[in-house]
Amino acid sequence: MITLKNFIGGELCDPAHGNYLDNYNPSIGEVYAQIPDSSQEDLHAAVNAANAAFPMWSQLPIGERSKHLMKLADLIEANLDQLAAAESQDNGKPVSLARKVDIPRAAANFRFFAAAIVNDGTSAHIMEGQAVNYTRRAPLGVVGCISPWNLPLYLLTWKIAPALATGNCVIAKPSEVTPYTAHLLGELVQEAGIPAGVLNILHGRGAGIGQMLVDHADIKAISFTGGTSTGKVIARSAAEQFKKVSLELGGKNPVLVFDDCEFEEAVATSVRSAFTNQGEICLCGSRIFVQESIYNEFKEAFVSKVQKLKVGDPNTTVDMGPLVSREHLQKVKNHVDQAKKQGATILTGGEKIERKGYYFEPTVIEGMDEYCAINQEEVFGPVVTLVPFRDEADAIAKANSTVYGLAAVIWTNDLKCAHRVAHQIQSGIIWVNCWMLRDLRTPFGGMKASGVGREGGEEALRFFTEPQNICIKL
Ligand code: NAP
Repeated sequence: MITLKNFIGGELCDPAHGNYLDNYNPSIGEVYAQIPDSSQEDLHAAVNAANAAFPMWSQLPIGERSKHLMKLADLIEANLDQLAAAESQDNGKPVSLARKVDIPRAAANFRFFAAAIVNDGTSAHIMEGQAVNYTRRAPLGVVGCISPWNLPLYLLTWKIAPALATGNCVIAKPSEVTPYTAHLLGELVQEAGIPAGVLNILHGRGAGIGQMLVDHADIKAISFTGGTSTGKVIARSAAEQFKKVSLELGGKNPVLVFDDCEFEEAVATSVRSAFTNQGEICLCGSRIFVQESIYNEFKEAFVSKVQKLKVGDPNTTVDMGPLVSREHLQKVKNHVDQAKKQGATILTGGEKIERKGYYFEPTVIEGMDEYCAINQEEVFGPVVTLVPFRDEADAIAKANSTVYGLAAVIWTNDLKCAHRVAHQIQSGIIWVNCWMLRDLRTPFGGMKASGVGREGGEEALRFFTEPQNICIKL
């Protein structure tokens, strides 16, 4: 049994009240770790440590801050094996995926923002003969970073890296469902020699320590990634104190397949975009709309590929591991059962896999229009629907028929059609003839109920700083 610790003031420490929560390995459904159930006392200690570190960290020359973050990136890479194994054990994702995507991306997040700050400029506005204005971007102070369980270290570091790079001190709250790599990150922060109090990590329940973090008067901003309903609670709480918030929320992403597309590539990538990480990625395409003229051909090829996906022990060569928790497995099953009751046709899958752990079959559904629950509610699992569309206008209307607006994929060889459709889809991210091709400089985030604000590149540097105009008379 592993006992995880909080990371406060540069030290790995037990929770003040000595309370712990069970942490499960979803591949076998057994408890393998205890995690701190943090309280106000832990939060106060973390806030004090962060406040004490802030003057020094924020005034450190950017080259020095950058070096610290580069060193941390190097250490993440050097510990790839241990971090990938921990991520897989905690979340259930195939260890091969954690090695290829999650952990390299965590290192890349630190490296990217470490480089960004030394290459960043500021703006000046000159009033000829009268004055010069320059914009100073000051760090906010102590900020909170709250992340979900699906891409644990990847998403936590996507927030921590720009926050630290811009001179803030951070209190991070990983999901209680997947805390292990955050715990290991604390050890690496120590090894990197990052000064005590600059990054603090508190474990525990969202509605407990998470909410306390959001409510604490000394926390100047909250960067949150998670579900839309949690985002609403956080937005309401933060509004009381006029806190800055960045909210990256749920999605119900459409994939539009036009009849002139590269057929094989569209099929293969749509399988990947539906089932990578067990479908537990906010960017997964869960509603596939296919032009009528190729619908049957696409369906046959798609279902045949899905039936070849290998589901099993994430430590072996598989395409999908278990879902993250017993509760989530039940939630996914409830969505599918509800669709069945409403008349859905299950083309493949649709059931739990009877074995130890939280496994669900990759599932393809048809026969439900875009307004049915299965096409409106986020399932966040290995479940995808196929729906035919007539023409461009019909495809756009169907794509925009939910409250969400995170990501969309368009498959076509007609460049003009791609532009026309992309401009009319209400999504923060549009991929044309690809999926999950990410450039960290681009704005990342959703429209409508998928979020408020953007992460990535300059957007993140702006979020974690306060602009101040300084006007000097000539
Ligand atoms: P969640 O339940 O909203 O939790 C997200 C994080 O918020 C967790 O750390 C959670 O802690 C914490 N939390 C819960 N209630 C809180 C509160 N009242 N105050 C402060 N923190 C609180 O989401 P999830 O189930 O972990 O993640 C799945 C969701 O995330 C999906 O909807 C998915 O689409 C979304 N997501 C969005 C993006 C994006 O970039 N837009 C990326 C990935 C995932 P506990 O886990 O301890 O409860």
